[in-house]
This record gives sequence, C-alpha cells and structure tokens, in this order.
Amino acid sequence: MHAPATATTIDKDALRAKYAEERDKRLRAEGSSQYLRLEREFAELAADPYTPITPREPLTDHVTFAFIGGGFAGLVVGARLKQAGITDVRIVEKGGDFGGTWYWNRYPGAQCDTASMIYMPLLEETGHMPSEKYAHAPEIRNHCSRIGETFGLYDKALFHTEVTGLEWNEGDKLWTVRTNRGDAFAAKYVGMGTGPLHVAKLPGLPGIETFKGKAFHTSRWDYAYTGGNPEGAPMTGLADKRVAIIGTGATSVQAVPHLARDAKELYVFQRTPSSVDRRDNAPLDDDWFASVAEPGWQRKWQDNFAANLGAGFPAEDLVNDGWTDLAKRMRANLRTVPPSEWTPARMMAAFEDADYEKMEQIRRRAEELVNDPNTADDLKAWYRQLCKRPCFHDEYLQAFNRPGVKLIHTDGQGVSAITEKGVMANGTEYEVDCIIYASGFEISTDYVARAGFDAVGRDGRTLSEYWGGGMRTLHGLHINGFPNLFMVQPAQAANFIANVPHNIVDHADTIASVVSAAEQRGAQTVEPTAEAEQAWLDLLRTGPARAIGSTECTPGYYNNEGKGWGEDAPLFVGHPGGALAYFAHIDAWRKSGRFEGLEFT
Ligand code: NDP
Repeated sequence: MHAPATATTIDKDALRAKYAEERDKRLRAEGSSQYLRLEREFAELAADPYTPITPREPLTDHVTFAFIGGGFAGLVVGARLKQAGITDVRIVEKGGDFGGTWYWNRYPGAQCDTASMIYMPLLEETGHMPSEKYAHAPEIRNHCSRIGETFGLYDKALFHTEVTGLEWNEGDKLWTVRTNRGDAFAAKYVGMGTGPLHVAKLPGLPGIETFKGKAFHTSRWDYAYTGGNPEGAPMTGLADKRVAIIGTGATSVQAVPHLARDAKELYVFQRTPSSVDRRDNAPLDDDWFASVAEPGWQRKWQDNFAANLGAGFPAEDLVNDGWTDLAKRMRANLRTVPPSEWTPARMMAAFEDADYEKMEQIRRRAEELVNDPNTADDLKAWYRQLCKRPCFHDEYLQAFNRPGVKLIHTDGQGVSAITEKGVMANGTEYEVDCIIYASGFEISTDYVARAGFDAVGRDGRTLSEYWGGGMRTLHGLHINGFPNLFMVQPAQAANFIANVPHNIVDHADTIASVVSAAEQRGAQTVEPTAEAEQAWLDLLRTGPARAIGSTECTPGYYNNEGKGWGEDAPLFVGHPGGALAYFAHIDAWRKSGRFEGLEFT
C-alpha cells in the first residue's frame, strides 16, 4: 500500500504538465463532428429492439398539457400536474414505454451512479424502497412504469412517437403538436423534456459500414444475439465469440465486467481512460429505510446532497459517497485557511489540491487492482476529476485480470478504422465477431438539433432563431415569445449535474404551480416578460464561470470536445449562489403566488 498522496507531496507542476500533454494528444480538429448519428445507412442500429411498434390512427384531438419526452422529466411533471388536479395530460415518447434513457439503456450492468434514494424520483409518492444504494437499470425502468401507473399517465401516452413540429397559434392560443405518426393535435400547454442522452452516436470511422459481423450501440443491446438479459444473466451467445467494445466511458465501465465474464475474448478499445473510483454498493434494508423515511425525507436527502456538493459546511453527509468525497476534501483544505483569505483564487486552489489528491488516489487504485503493471498504467486517468464524468465501479478494473480480456490502449488516438473483419487500432487489425459501440450520445450538439423539431412561437419566430445569440430563459423554464411552453432541463436554473432528477422534480413543482395559477385565474396564456428574462440572464452573468467544461481539460462532451463553449459559456450556468440558492429562490417565488416576471393574460 502507498502512503496517501497529499497536496504537499504531489508535484503539481509536473502533474499540470502531464495533464496538458495528455489533453493535447486527444484534441481533434473535427470536435463533435467526428461522430455519426444512427441514421441513413446506420438507421437499422437505431431500431427499437425491445418493443414492437403498435399501429394506430393519427390523432387530431385536444389536450390540456402535452409533454414531449417520457423519461423522468415527463413522468415527474405528469405526476405533479395530476396531483394539482390537471388530469388531461398526454406524454409523447419515442421509445416503446416510459423511461427515456432507462428505456433504451438495458446493457448488462447498467446502474445509477447517484444514490438511488436521491436519484429515483417520487419514492415517497409511490411508496417504493430502492433495493440497493445504486439501483440497477431494470429496477429504475420498473420504477418509471410505477410512476406512470400510479399517476394514470399511461391512459393518454403516445409511445413510439416522435414530435416533428410544434407551432403556436395566436388565434386560438393553442400549440399544435405534430409527430412522425401523422398526429396533429392541440395542446393548451406544452412541456419539453427531451433530455441530453437520447441521440446515440457512433465514431465516424472509415469503413464503419463495411463490417460483416454483428454490431450494435450499447443503448440498443441485442440480447437475441448475446443471450442473457438486462438483469445480468450469463450471455451464453458470447461464449464462443470474439467481442470488441469501443469506448471506455461510464457505459463501458458498467458493461465490461459482464462482457469479460461471458465472452470468449474481449478487446476493450480505449482512447481516454475513465477515472474509476470505488462504488461500495450495498442492499438497503427495510429497517434502515423505515428509520429514515419520515415525511419529506427524499427532499431532505436531495437538499443535503446538494449542500454537500456546494460551497457551505453542512453538518452531516447523508449520502456519503464518491461525489461528496471530493467536496469534503476541498472543505477540509479550506478549513486550514482563515475565512478572511477565502478569495475566489484561494477557493480554486483548494479545489485543485483536493482534485489532485483524489485523482492520485484513483490512479493508485488501478495499480492496486490490476495485476499487469503495463495495463494498470494504461488505465490511469490523467486529468482533473470533473473533466470527464467520474465513474465508480468495484469490478471494472479487476476485469482486466481475466485471461480473455485485453485492453487496447491507443494512447489518445482511438480506433482508426473498421474493416470487414474487425477493428483497426495502433496499426493492427483485431478480428472480431461482434463490435459494441459504447461511444455515447450527442450532448454537445445544439438543443434544437437534438430535439428533432424547432418550436415556432409567437409571430412565427422559431426557438433556434430566438436562441441564435445563445439560450435565453427565465429560471431555465420559461421563454419569452413562447407562451404556455415549459422547458425541463438544468441550465439557467440550479444546473445541478450530480443529481439531475433533483432539478427535474423542482421544475415539475414550478410547472404544476404555474399551470394551476393560470387555470385558477382563467388565463389563456402565461409567458415571461422580456424584461424578466433579461434580468434573470443579467443575474446569471454575475456568478462564477462554469465549474466544468474548461478547455484545459481532456476533450469530451463536458467541454465540447476540447473546443469549449465560447460565447455561450456564461449562459450554461446556474444561479450565481449555487444550486441551493436557486432552489430557495424558486421555492419563495412559487410560494409568493405572485409569479413575478410572468404575465397571465
Ligand atoms: P461517453 O461519451 O462518456 O463515452 C464514449 C466513449 O467512446 C469515450 O470513452 C470515448 O473516448 C470513446 N470513443 C469515441 N470515439 C472513439 C474512437 N474513435 N476510438 C476509441 N474510443 C472512442 O458515453 P457513455 O455512454 O459511456 O456515457 C454517456 C453519459 O451517460 C455519461 O457520461 C453519463 O452522464 C451517462 N451515463 C450514466 C450512467 C449512470 O448514471 N449510471 C451510466 C452510463 C452512462 P474519449 O473519452 O477519448 O472521447
């Protein structure tokens, strides 16, 4: 065992230089355009392998509230609306059931990375107790169905349906929602919660269309080919197969231990290693749950987690995991400095020191768990922890000790081509029977391109035109010129990325109270004023820069593949006082009943 690395024993200049060198190897001029969508010649890879499509007639009716997207956002908004007495709610979802990312991602080992107690929404409302601290995907998908059933959201839902158009009609003060199933129905209010992880991408590799074996993306797992199931049963179909998995992000980290167990041979193609800290998953037992589950417990836990990731000094850490550990280290470091010296520069230095210590610990973990020293070295992540999505797993690194598993480290260059027979990397062709693309999702592309439609608001102005100079909202939710429309996403609000459902539940509370107020007042429209929107943006600009997404980081979707966010960077932020300040602000705003900044007509 090594002595623990501390800020004083770490050669920070050497580390900074190493991080910069590793980043530079990976910078690619093409940025996000290095990737391909699952369309045209790859459209087959996008097909839903889980649920057959049911034919139905197009709809031309009217609903009070239409929500685009049936993931956590649509489910939680739908639930809150129903609780508020708005019962005429239709969710439109491109998958064959509710779940969003949890509908599509059924790869073996899929599991939440944030503790179930704060991650799985509406646990109190549905009476569900998660079975583990980090629940696996089938349980989360079932929970989505549970929310849908508990709140009667299945009745009007449209599955396997993609919205293709959304237009505001000033005459009748209604939205027209058009879909790829020929629907053109009217809705008084519309919510948009299309999420960041629904457009799967492939690496744009030469020859990718020529491969003669089996290929699929991790979000379209083909159990008919691999055998096994999302619950983790052995994938007997792989027992005689040579399998390649391309990518080593959060998805691959969870899938690799299962592939390592079941495939005859497994090649893991790595461009950038993930930082893989300990997971420490554990079953949750009834007695423990009963001891915490007093009314309001989930919100209390969510707030406590947010407080532990914030700048304050909370008295307790209820979740107590890898996410809160980094913040705790930073606070411990700050405690050594008198409060009078807590300048922004000093805070950043404390953050950097805590980060170096944490990453040294994670790199040593690779040395301790991986038998072959070269493989262990290749699995070390050389960047600050929040440059890439932090990963947590107790079996990933050990998977490389299995005889059939080979890490193909490409030293930042990645796979160079796909051939008829397999994968080219480092000048070698690796012949395989199956290629699994763990290459992620479009996250850095613009909202309209990802959503697949461009909302047309008042006076025919489109959302892409309105946001041509950057995203503009009030509270991350309302958009001037787009009456009765609500966005459910974290930016320009709490922007709390470590537990996205916390943002969603809070937005759902706001939407339900605004819609209830509009209905009680007999209003036809509710819309933010241009002044309120501008004042909100002015407030956002007074805050610190984005905590993640620096161009000093190794490229990835956090920093737009190394290109940064340019002039948009100050717009992809949260409340200047942090996530809890936003939640407190919006809670008071809702409770006041005045809904300052909104106009009801
Ligand atoms: P990512 O975008 O994180 O990872 C894609 C991977 O593909 C990266 O390792 C990337 O390398 C690699 N890659 C791309 N092109 C090439 C190439 N030419 N050769 C070799 N490798 C290549 O996608 P994931 O699906 O892993 O995760 C996406 C997000 O989904 C996560 O960040 C997380 O937010 C979420 N997620 C959450 C989970 C949870 O909560 N439990 C579980 C899984 C995912 P490079 O890093 O060099 O770009």
